[in-house]
Amino acid sequence: MSHQILNNLRLNPSVCRIEVEAAQVARKALPGQFLIVHLDEKAERIPLTIFQSDQEKGTIKIIVQEAGRSTQKLCALKAGDRIADIIGPLGIPTHIDNFGRVVCVSGGVGTAEIYPVAQALKNAGNEVISVIGARERSLLILETEMRQASNELYVTTDDGSYQRKGFVSDVLSELIERKKIDRVFAVGPVPMMEKIAEITRPKNISTIVSLNSIMVDGTGMCGSC
Ligand code: NAD
Repeated sequence: MSHQILNNLRLNPSVCRIEVEAAQVARKALPGQFLIVHLDEKAERIPLTIFQSDQEKGTIKIIVQEAGRSTQKLCALKAGDRIADIIGPLGIPTHIDNFGRVVCVSGGVGTAEIYPVAQALKNAGNEVISVIGARERSLLILETEMRQASNELYVTTDDGSYQRKGFVSDVLSELIERKKIDRVFAVGPVPMMEKIAEITRPKNISTIVSLNSIMVDGTGMCGSC
């Protein structure tokens, strides 16, 4: 059964947010899980984070960064168009608990994945401090959503075109000097997640990152991830 698109919104020049009918996915999706989109019978399989799900409406929202032909095609779809298959929810959900004070750090389009995690952590009673960053102002996404999902939000841009100049990791370094942090969650480019792990390791702060390895079947059967 194919899935109808309800709306498609541009978040920045290369990132879009699509709301699509997927009642079965919406019923079960948990923070940190993803799905695989198959545009048509011959299309490649695209793994994407489930950004939001609405059980009552039976819809989900996904955030797509145009990285090649298939993601460009996906971002070009309009309300009323259909996606052939959506497989999910896949992956192990992020472990959510009341850890105390947590920091959620995201770089670039990684904010799409950290958002449901930050929201669930806040709902679980944590004090959530978030740090989101982008290379420049026009690439920053989901600032309003992250502000709602956090008790405190810091924003960085590499070039200083908006809010604080620097990397998200710079803010984390300062935060852990000032406050006791119980756990850190980070999603973004691999060098960013490596840097975050280097910062938290000497302080023994438990740190969860999202390694987006090569994905084939998305269920663990092929062994590549
Ligand atoms: P980007 O290269 O523009 O970087 C975004 C931000 O990350 C920068 O503004 C900076 O604050 C931080 N950053 C980058 N390099 C860093 C470094 N060496 N040290 C410290 N901080 C650094 O990101 P983009 O172009 O939006 O790409 C997003 C990346 O996130 C892609 O690599 C994508 O694969 C990855 N991603 C990962 C997941 C996942 O599940 N792991 C999900 C979505 C996106």
